[in-house]
Amino acid sequence: MNAVSEAPRIWVTTILFASTALAALILVPLYGFLVGYHWYQWLAFAVYGALCGLSITAGYHRLWSHRTYEAHWSLRLLFALFGAAALQNSVLVWSSGHRRHHRHVDDNDHDPYSARRGFWFSHIGWMLREYPSGQENFDNAKDLQRDKIVMWQHNHYIPITLAMNLGLTFLLGWATGDIIGMLLLAGVLRIVVNHHTTFFINSLAHIWGRRPYTDENTARDNDLLAFFTFGEGYHNYHHIFQTDYRNGIRWYHWDPTKWLIRTASWLGLARNLKTVPDMRIQRAMLTMQFKRAEQKLQQSSHKDSWRQLLEKEAQQFSEALGEWKELQSRRYENARERLLARWESAAIRTRVKELEYSLKMQRKRLQIMMEQFHLCPATA
Ligand SMILES: [Zn+2]
Ligand SMILES: [Zn+2]
Repeated sequence: MNAVSEAPRIWVTTILFASTALAALILVPLYGFLVGYHWYQWLAFAVYGALCGLSITAGYHRLWSHRTYEAHWSLRLLFALFGAAALQNSVLVWSSGHRRHHRHVDDNDHDPYSARRGFWFSHIGWMLREYPSGQENFDNAKDLQRDKIVMWQHNHYIPITLAMNLGLTFLLGWATGDIIGMLLLAGVLRIVVNHHTTFFINSLAHIWGRRPYTDENTARDNDLLAFFTFGEGYHNYHHIFQTDYRNGIRWYHWDPTKWLIRTASWLGLARNLKTVPDMRIQRAMLTMQFKRAEQKLQQSSHKDSWRQLLEKEAQQFSEALGEWKELQSRRYENARERLLARWESAAIRTRVKELEYSLKMQRKRLQIMMEQFHLCPATA
């Protein structure tokens, strides 16, 4: 027996997850077959589900856990209410645990949902027993304890959750004339979908997908998962740059959470949206690409002829980074001493843009080189 199976069971969560899942699998289709659902019940399921999902991603996650932007109290209240409706515990408990997940990612003793303990554990198992790794400790959430809305939600979590789940769905059902149908779709099915889409970020997004920015942890980028999780599937990016309010950084990345935060900032409800400088992102991507090129080269039959070219590229990369670091420190120093002339600031910005572009080109060159390692010897 290991410590994992000996940990005492938490009956509240076990019964909650089991009963909602069973009801969604049996009662929801049965009622649909016997009585049928109306379009407005499906609409309530979708709108309610989106409000709860986005309150977790934009509120619990990107606002409270990572402080990637600041939000007006009205938006925080909305997130606190619909986040409670998603039935994933209070902001304080969720965010404090999530900060531990980032800090100790993949460490089986300290990451509350370490993916190295397997799919089941990281998906849902971690909430079913009192594991030492899951112990609550709010020392890492002093800032959240100063947020009045967070503490109000934490201290009144049960009544708020009951009102937002049972109360609201009951009211919607009563107003539309079918209480049971509404409870089943906008209540039960919505909760189960909300639960498992969030849980997939801790399980699947640490197992399945690509790692373009870092391979120092298990987090992955996965477009399909991003589609079902309001953009949270770009988890490899998120783990290396957790202070960025975006998870999908390209315009074509499916990240409704990012779009919501940006819209809120246009409306004056959010501000100080934080992003990571493009140069740092390029640096991470190129570092990974050099690592992969090196591994691939080991298997190539034309190893020696490519080696020289690769080393030349690596040299160029480190020179570009050196220049970028120098430009950064010049900019900070001048700004501190208030010496930065406008033309010089513009010149630094232009040079940084040029460096970003040169790294982008280098990534393309490396890509082409890697495809040719096996095919032929280097010619240049
Ligand atoms: Zn996170
Ligand atoms: Zn993670």
